[in-house]
Amino acid sequence: MAEPKKRVTDIGPPNYEQFLPPIIKKNYGKWKYHEILKPGVMVHVGESGDKLFTVRAASPRLICTDKIRDYADLAEKYCGGHLRFTSRHNVEFLLTDESKIDSLIKDLKDIGHPVGGIGNAISSIVHTQGWVHCHSAATDASGIVKAVMDELFEYFSERKLPGKLRIALACCLNMCGAVHCSDIAILGIHTKPPRVDHKTLKKMCEIPSVSASCPTAAIRPATVDGFDSVEVIEEQCMFCANCYTVCPSMPLNDPETDGISLWVGGKVSDARTPPKFSKLAVPFLPNNPPRWPEVVDMIKHMVEIWAKDARPYERMGEWIERITWPRFFKLAGIKFQKEHIDDFKHAGLSFNRTAQITHVNS
Ligand code: SF4
Ligand code: SF4
Repeated sequence: MAEPKKRVTDIGPPNYEQFLPPIIKKNYGKWKYHEILKPGVMVHVGESGDKLFTVRAASPRLICTDKIRDYADLAEKYCGGHLRFTSRHNVEFLLTDESKIDSLIKDLKDIGHPVGGIGNAISSIVHTQGWVHCHSAATDASGIVKAVMDELFEYFSERKLPGKLRIALACCLNMCGAVHCSDIAILGIHTKPPRVDHKTLKKMCEIPSVSASCPTAAIRPATVDGFDSVEVIEEQCMFCANCYTVCPSMPLNDPETDGISLWVGGKVSDARTPPKFSKLAVPFLPNNPPRWPEVVDMIKHMVEIWAKDARPYERMGEWIERITWPRFFKLAGIKFQKEHIDDFKHAGLSFNRTAQITHVNS
């Protein structure tokens, strides 16, 4: 029976199949194995014997049209017009001719894009919008990522870490970046409840929507100074900015009191151990532009103690669970504070229920 004709709609993105390079289309689902040939270069070998070479280059998240044209020119020259971006902002060129790899790497370096980030290395840091582009940011994005990556760059272009290292940044708790599942996560945090502009709130926002937006039910309708508005029960507020996302009359940004928290141990991969959520390590570091030295120093320190002590291929979260969290805090020089206690209403499920807090798992 003939296959039914696919319907073409204008809803959602176009089907990705039409953009696949011919070699990927031909070997789809039939790859036998892959291996890393050198920093930033790997090969996939198909059951058919076909070989697909990937060259991964660093890319900033925010790029201009000139840069996109540069990438497109290289893709035309070496890859039949195909390239792809990874979820962490690396740009990958896919070649079928091995002899062109070194020439592509040289061309990439000439336009300022180092090659690396595959295997036991740091990949480009995925990040969100920052002060410039998003209204609820508690910190910047590109600025901190640049400062951190400048310090960790040697781990991108060389494979000298024990395992993969994935770092993410989100500039508020809405977490548009992959901060919940990265080895190290940089997360902007507010520390004060929203300031309600009672005069404008009714005109700019729907009171029922604003009240419903609060995950802790801290907002309730109220009449204040004769204006229909809302009030915030401050003890219930966790400074998440959800209300500000739906209502511009409830800003909570403050350059002095906003800052950065660091989270560790998350991963998406289910190799060896199941995927893990990142957990809080450092509750607060100040916003200190333009180079955020406190944040950079702490991240570098955490990477170095993990790199020194971890077993081959051990991700940061796996290493911490093996050496135990108390020992990790000691090695990293982090003090245990009240913010480390999970007080969410379902937290009981995650509490340790034995006295064995320092046992070694493996
Ligand atoms: Fe905006 Fe928050 Fe997303 Fe950053 S993480 S882009 S501040 S919503
Ligand atoms: Fe509720 Fe979050 Fe707004 Fe606080 S910041 S009032 S917790 S929505």
